[in-house]
Amino acid sequence: MIRVNDLSVSYGAVKALRNVSLEASPGLVTAVLGANGAGKTTLLRTISGLVNPVGGDIHLGDTSLLRMPTEEICRLGLAHVPEGRGVIEELTVEDNLRLGALASKVDIAEGLEAQYAQFPALGDRRKKYCATLSGGERQMLAMARALIAQPRVLLLDEPSLGLAPQVTSDLMKLILRLCESKNLTVILVEQNAKGALRIAHNAVVLHLGAVVASGDAQTVAADEDLRRYYLGLVE
Ligand code: ATP
Repeated sequence: MIRVNDLSVSYGAVKALRNVSLEASPGLVTAVLGANGAGKTTLLRTISGLVNPVGGDIHLGDTSLLRMPTEEICRLGLAHVPEGRGVIEELTVEDNLRLGALASKVDIAEGLEAQYAQFPALGDRRKKYCATLSGGERQMLAMARALIAQPRVLLLDEPSLGLAPQVTSDLMKLILRLCESKNLTVILVEQNAKGALRIAHNAVVLHLGAVVASGDAQTVAADEDLRRYYLGLVE
């Protein structure tokens, strides 16, 4: 389980997170929702050790992640798929996947086969340069590159960004299937509240760096005020 307690982050004068608390559990998708600038990316980057908080703490199980180097956090079983995917266009699909396995103890050949079994479209394109992939395939590659290290926790930053509605819908179902089948703790950051709430078990809504609502996803999705004022979901 990931437990974030009273977390605050500042970039100089900008308070990006204000006393944020949340919990995310194995086998569940926890959606973190909110408009541009709400602090969603900062939250994930702070959990990953890429940004230092000014207050609060973060635990993975019983272990505090505060002041722990990112590579050590990765070795504890946390994987982060960044906004924009971060795949390397000049490398093939297979070489991108190899990078994901480098810091882990997994057998690379076995890891590659496991990912090709899970994402057959990547297996078909294993020798293709990443620059030739569609947006949906790149997102799959970014997720496979994270999963090859067999993490316990998967942080996903805006996976649906730039994808067509049908591709987004398929991707969300895939995220849910991976989460449940592997008992992964998934924290899913999305501006696409509608798509995320369809698969999430729990949801946290951020506004200007603070939590304005949290609870089970169905309750959040049914709240008219949240839909209107924070999620942009009023039809
Ligand atoms: P988006 O969906 O646009 O990425 P977000 O919810 O992920 O938004 P953050 O990117 O975490 O929000 O940004 C939160 C606040 O912190 C914003 O006001 C943003 O301008 C500011 N911010 C983010 N990164 C930096 C930085 N490196 N330096 C200064 N301010 C930053």
